[in-house]
Amino acid sequence: LPPGERVGFALVGLGRLTLEELLPAFAECRYARPVALVSGTPEKARLVAAQYGIKPEAIYGYADIPRLRENGEVRAAYVVTPNSLHREQVEAAAAAGKHVLCEKPMAVSSAEARAMIAACDRARVKLMVAYRVQYEPHNREVIRLLRSGELGAARLIETNNCQVQGDPSQWRMKKALAGGGSLPDIGIYCLNTARAYTGEEPVEVFARIHTPPNDPRFAEVEDTVSFMLRFPSGTIANCATSYSAFNSKDMRVQFERGWADLENAYAYRGQQLRVAKRDGERQVVEQPRIRERNQFALEMDHFARCILEDRRPRTPGEEGLRDHLAMEAIYRSAATGQPVTM
Ligand code: NDP
Repeated sequence: LPPGERVGFALVGLGRLTLEELLPAFAECRYARPVALVSGTPEKARLVAAQYGIKPEAIYGYADIPRLRENGEVRAAYVVTPNSLHREQVEAAAAAGKHVLCEKPMAVSSAEARAMIAACDRARVKLMVAYRVQYEPHNREVIRLLRSGELGAARLIETNNCQVQGDPSQWRMKKALAGGGSLPDIGIYCLNTARAYTGEEPVEVFARIHTPPNDPRFAEVEDTVSFMLRFPSGTIANCATSYSAFNSKDMRVQFERGWADLENAYAYRGQQLRVAKRDGERQVVEQPRIRERNQFALEMDHFARCILEDRRPRTPGEEGLRDHLAMEAIYRSAATGQPVTM
């Protein structure tokens, strides 16, 4: 679409994700463009606006979100702030008549997620959670393989999302802002992707958590979580996440007649897919050729098209709610040492 017909986005929160990934990704969008900024740091917002050709009068503070209503160029707000701020900002943007794309985790509890869905319904605006992995082409290919039945049924999903978190003072390590530790921040990718892959909701979860007692990073939030999800079809997903284990973001599906191994499944780029199948008596391993695309651009374009064509997003608010319900069950299981039926 020509720039004037694209869906105008207001970026809410100018942190690392917005500055390093989202704003640059608009260059690869065909249906979305940035037209406004919401920030608590006006000097930064002025520089960013100048860099991306955003009008100085389209810079707002968080308290001004209701004023987005008066800006006809803005059709969508993309909330990219610490997790516990999402609810208030999503609800304010919805009340201002704007469609809302919200970063993961959607909120800090299932109760908040429910309230956000209800607020967007009342305001008759669309709500999407930014589960970018569901827009990434290699992950889409694994989903295609699962649905096609080419390799038989999926028996096991093995996946992890680990990274070393250094700075104890950042909001991710504060319970009040983050809602939790590794689980809602990065473990959520294992959970959401296992649900997207199977296309099912877990019926049972079982989890263990280990948090080093004297590490200042983990005064408030958990470190390492291992959790198992059992799906109705019989697929079992073994998932692990950690803030103190070396970087790895891998996913492997064991089918009846092969496997799919996706390295860097949750990374911003660099996915490597290998698929093993039987060829007579032999096992062959193929590397399907899939064009790497900017998944942030695909995700923002998806939301823009949903607005233009009045369609429901692939990852609506309900997706975020289901993940919050599962994460609450994971915490409960770890606390009691018992499996939790969903
Ligand atoms: P950052 O800490 O880099 O940035 C957060 C920004 O939020 C700040 O720069 C600030 O922007 C604004 N902000 C408003 N209030 C506060 C506050 N009390 N404390 C700190 N910042 C505040 O975080 P990220 O960009 O890494 O993460 C933002 C959101 O995006 C989170 O929900 C996170 O889970 C999600 N995320 C998603 C990723 C994905 O791949 N989908 C990857 C990384 C993060 P300003 O100065 O403009 O007010």
